[in-house]
Amino acid sequence: MARETFAFQTEVGRLLDIVAHSLYTHKEIFLRELISNASDACDRLRYAALTDPALTEGEPDFRITLDTDRAARTLSVADNGIGMNHDDLVETLGTIARSGTQGFLAQLTGDAKKDVALIGQFGVGFYSAFMVADTVDVITRRAGEEKAWKWSSDGKGTFSIEEAERAGRGTTVILHLKEGEDEFFEPARLRQIVKTYSDHIGFPIVLLDGKAEDAEAGGETEGEGKSGEQTLNAASSLWTRAKKDITDEQYKEFYHHVGHAFDEPWLVLHNTVEGVVSYTSLLFVPSTAPFDLFDPERKPKVKLYVRRVFITDDCEGLLPSYLRFLRGVVDSEDLPLNISRETFQHDPRLAKMRSGLVKRVLDELARKAENAADYAKFWEAFGAVLKEGIYEDFENRDKLLSLARFHSTAGEELTSLDGYIERMKPGQDAIYTISGSELEALRRSPQLEGFRAKGVEVLLLTDPIDEFWMPSVRTYKEKPFRSAASAGTDLGKIEGGETAAEGEAEAAPPAGVEALAAALKEALGEAVKDVRASKRLTESAVCLVAGEGDLDMHIERLLRQHRQLGAAVPRVLEINPKHPLILSLASLAAAGDGGKEALGEAAFLLLDQARILEGEPVADASAFARRMTAMMERGLAAAPASPAEVAAEPAAEPAAE
Ligand code: ADP
Ligand code: MG
Repeated sequence: MARETFAFQTEVGRLLDIVAHSLYTHKEIFLRELISNASDACDRLRYAALTDPALTEGEPDFRITLDTDRAARTLSVADNGIGMNHDDLVETLGTIARSGTQGFLAQLTGDAKKDVALIGQFGVGFYSAFMVADTVDVITRRAGEEKAWKWSSDGKGTFSIEEAERAGRGTTVILHLKEGEDEFFEPARLRQIVKTYSDHIGFPIVLLDGKAEDAEAGGETEGEGKSGEQTLNAASSLWTRAKKDITDEQYKEFYHHVGHAFDEPWLVLHNTVEGVVSYTSLLFVPSTAPFDLFDPERKPKVKLYVRRVFITDDCEGLLPSYLRFLRGVVDSEDLPLNISRETFQHDPRLAKMRSGLVKRVLDELARKAENAADYAKFWEAFGAVLKEGIYEDFENRDKLLSLARFHSTAGEELTSLDGYIERMKPGQDAIYTISGSELEALRRSPQLEGFRAKGVEVLLLTDPIDEFWMPSVRTYKEKPFRSAASAGTDLGKIEGGETAAEGEAEAAPPAGVEALAAALKEALGEAVKDVRASKRLTESAVCLVAGEGDLDMHIERLLRQHRQLGAAVPRVLEINPKHPLILSLASLAAAGDGGKEALGEAAFLLLDQARILEGEPVADASAFARRMTAMMERGLAAAPASPAEVAAEPAAEPAAE
């Protein structure tokens, strides 16, 4: 087959441009990336050979080799792993196929500085080779196949593929080093890089006695094998070593490798369990949310090994979806090696490991939660994911609820439910919540005025997931959750503070207000479910609440956005019986038919105002503008303003902005 030329996927082109021109710090990480890929390739072949032993026949041991040739100015990284065929090459070394890439690419700004920081989080994997090389060749042969292939590129828009020769299976990546990158010919430097970044790799990483190796390096060979070969790493899987022999740096580098991650781990959990099922787990909680956290697949990412042999990184039964932010490995001593990945999912031993792992992780999170500031970092990144467990994992529901943190009206800090319960007021029997999409808007909600006046705390829920678990959970420590934006809320029983309806001997609203409510309902007709004097408002003239038994207003909005719900459900319009505007309108209503028309106009303006406060569009913008203009005209014409019209002004304010 003749030589073929391909263009890189557009995004790879952009990435390569940044890699070649802007990434100057820690260039040596290219070696970590290539070794990481080589190790993955060995893992994959070892797994494939479980069912097809012929694949590794004649060459059962895996290894990764580094070789230098100063005269040719090349450094090569070779493995005897799975290798790639023609189609593999086209698919993988020309595109960015990783999940979550879309999100990543969408965030690239074209501003080199910002993009470099972003790439730091995402990693560039194979393409990092172009930081130090002006040309990269990949000679590779897929295990079990005859043909070998050469992929070649200068990283400037295109790559080529042609047939090649290769003695055995696996992949050799040949870097033609740029001028000035000579340090990567030096054995001492290579050894240091491998020690720093790749010591944890479970396969030997061997430095060959290269053609152009420095003469003076000959003597200092610790791991010397046959003629001048040096093994540079400990070559035992990190998780099999004793905790005390592992440094934080080594844990971190292993996390980078196993998690394809580039941040600091927030939590490292290294554990061995011996018993009915025996396994070792080395799990990491990242410190930043990965790009694919909210992929619809919600797949856990932890790798399953069986007695040091990699089995899969796609094992659904191993961990629940709500722990999909975890990275790391679980290595089982008991599972059989020779069954298919699919069969694993149903093995009772897997379920046992799963419940042990979940318990371990949740217990550790509870311990970490004692440091509120540190835990808040975790919560901001992964809280929304962990909360999925509240309705998915019945067994651990209470634990998860106690791990959950919420924004609340009590302050800027996150609170736990236990903290909330401690602060509940005498006479308060429910945990009050309000849902919305923006925290700051929620804090200003008119529905909360009465709660504020009474000093009753309300949890502010902004994660869409809250709408799923809240209805199914109903209570925490026997305290029911209750929406603060629902008509049934009765603050009267709670001691302290005063809301609109209270104080004057719990008086019923002034008679005029009842009549006004009735008149407004008549004017608004089907647009509202009811109009009522409010017991919650202290400052605003009006607000909307959901009728008893109706959907929460925020959920309803979400459902309508997703077209799960057709027409809007009419709400209850609450009016503040102490507000000067409401009182003036009440006298207008009492004046009989004379004020009817003005009252009708005012009714719609009030409703529109309440909608605006909810962050919703007004029902009919042109009618709204017409009414408002008329109202303002009248107000200005009547200057000096009568008290009623002065009071009318604030009512129009939010819309005038
Ligand atoms: P990642 O390792 O995160 O998948 P990379 O950019 O490092 O991303 O590598 C891209 C893909 O190229 C790998 O997923 C793998 O399919 C393929 N690949 C890279 N190096 C090798 C190798 N040495 N052997 C086999 N496949 C490889
Ligand atoms: Mg990689």
